[in-house]
Amino acid sequence: MSTDMLALINARVVTVDAQGSIIDNATIVVDENGLIREIASGSVAHTATTVIDARGGIVMPGLVNAHAHLGMTLFRGLGDDMNLEDFLARLMPAEISILNHDAVVAGTELGALESLLGGITTTLDMYYLPDAAQEVVSRSGARIFSAPNLLESDGPEPLSFEARMQWSDEWLTAANASGNDSLNWLAPHSTYLLGEDHLVRIAALAEKHGAHIHVHAAETVGEMKLVANRHDGRTPIQVLADTDLLTEAVLAHGVHLTDEDIELIADHHASVTHCPASNQKLASGTARVLDLHKAGVNVALGTDGPASGNDLDLWLAMRLAGYAQKNTSHDPTVLPALDVLRMATINGAKALHVDHLIGSLEVGKAADIIVLDVDSPSLTPVFDPHVAIVAAAGRGDVYSVVVNGKVVVHEKRSLTIDHAHVVQRVRELGSQVMSAVEEVERTRHK
Ligand SMILES: [Zn+2]
Repeated sequence: MSTDMLALINARVVTVDAQGSIIDNATIVVDENGLIREIASGSVAHTATTVIDARGGIVMPGLVNAHAHLGMTLFRGLGDDMNLEDFLARLMPAEISILNHDAVVAGTELGALESLLGGITTTLDMYYLPDAAQEVVSRSGARIFSAPNLLESDGPEPLSFEARMQWSDEWLTAANASGNDSLNWLAPHSTYLLGEDHLVRIAALAEKHGAHIHVHAAETVGEMKLVANRHDGRTPIQVLADTDLLTEAVLAHGVHLTDEDIELIADHHASVTHCPASNQKLASGTARVLDLHKAGVNVALGTDGPASGNDLDLWLAMRLAGYAQKNTSHDPTVLPALDVLRMATINGAKALHVDHLIGSLEVGKAADIIVLDVDSPSLTPVFDPHVAIVAAAGRGDVYSVVVNGKVVVHEKRSLTIDHAHVVQRVRELGSQVMSAVEEVERTRHK
């Protein structure tokens, strides 16, 4: 008889399946491959030696962060209370002077630690030196989807656009050979940092390898102007459609969309990753989430990078997403809790093209599971678990985290990442970041 990897008992399972089922007093059994073998009310026979007793607490799918820049933890809080353009002018030179493989490993590992402790089990990452992020994957157990970044400028790697295309070709060839879906991605930064010729070539490369696209689009009014100037008056979404990059893409932000843009997104089966914390903090505007839903567009949730959103908190993102739509529509019934929870779980999985594997707790799916602290004051009492999750729970309530059947956080502590070491390493790099920024600003003011 095969050995089960894990059993969770006494669980109030919030499945986030198609019906939004909740199974009380349940047992989840995870098989030897990390897949959910059974979910049922009451006790279930199993052979696992690792057993987590949820003591009646909420057990739910791991959260999916569908837009982040994990390595950017190194620059957290570097440019606050300023607009996106000023913030980027401060950030980008600092990145160029600080980033190398080791620095990105440190920043990403801190990001993975923060993510896992906060219940995020999967992240669609966009950052320089993505090999570094993959090194963190193997250590931490976190699922991190990575891609080569495509920009016109050389960036911190440093690589010319031509060299980036060559690298991307090799990256995707290796990704396809390994069968690892989390690497079969390309990340053109945006339509404001790339010209039409570049975008067309990126689309052809993606087509050659069957790769998915992760791109910033329609984040700020300033971006809309830049794109209109650069691309004959078109919107970012029109440019992406015209260059064959829109189909099934993940569009980070999608704040400033026309009705025609929304139609294009729906027709191309692209997903929008709504990043409400970053958008509200940078005063970028409020995404048309209700209109996107009406058009049948899949809307996921993201934190954006910790330099602009400052933290990797999807509970905050859930809260802000729901509240902003209720407030701007003057209707508290819109975007109910289960819809918001879907955005943070199954919709993220759909955006990443892995909803057959993660995003809900169902038999046959991977065991990416969070156990919430049953003794949390803010989770007492719980009348409606969906509402409790979206309107009351926070990162501090995450008690255990399981990825692919492996326990990576237990009793609110990381079991895979050396917490003290990672924090110390990034603290050291922080002082180098500050010196680099001061140097750049001194030169600029001369
Ligand atoms: Zn971003």
